Amino acid sequence: MALRTIREIGDDVLKKPCKEVKEMTGRLKVLIDDMLETMYDADGVGLAAPQVGILKRIVVIDVGDGPIVLVNPKIVATDGEQTGQEGCLSVPGKCGDVTRPNYVKVVALNEEMEPVEIEGTELLARALCHEIDHLDGHLFVEKVIGKLREVTYEDEEE
Ligand code: ZN
Repeated sequence: MALRTIREIGDDVLKKPCKEVKEMTGRLKVLIDDMLETMYDADGVGLAAPQVGILKRIVVIDVGDGPIVLVNPKIVATDGEQTGQEGCLSVPGKCGDVTRPNYVKVVALNEEMEPVEIEGTELLARALCHEIDHLDGHLFVEKVIGKLREVTYEDEEE
């Protein structure tokens, strides 16, 4: 396993739509392991493949309940609304308020290419929406209500 370089806002790779994964390969398994390691190393709750420069529909998430690996994820249901602070490893030092559904249901494949279904509320719902947006070339900064803020010490403690 190895840490990958996290691409930052301004890098064109973050604006491009990602391709569906047709088959799992050894290379993609290494990518997934590296994405998890890179996410944990950066203290993130999620990471999408384009953030490490790979235009494939793969995301990893861990909101504190263990790692979730999603291949070709699709949001199939949403409910409610939540507005809260969001940040991104590709937009270091900044955060802003974004409105997301309070509940989402996602269908995807796991790293064995088996179908999985995942439901999330609150932080997990937010992370699912945020990471899946990356796969379509979108960053949270496009959705921020008001202005981006500098992350302060207090924000980090939340
Ligand atoms: Zn992000």
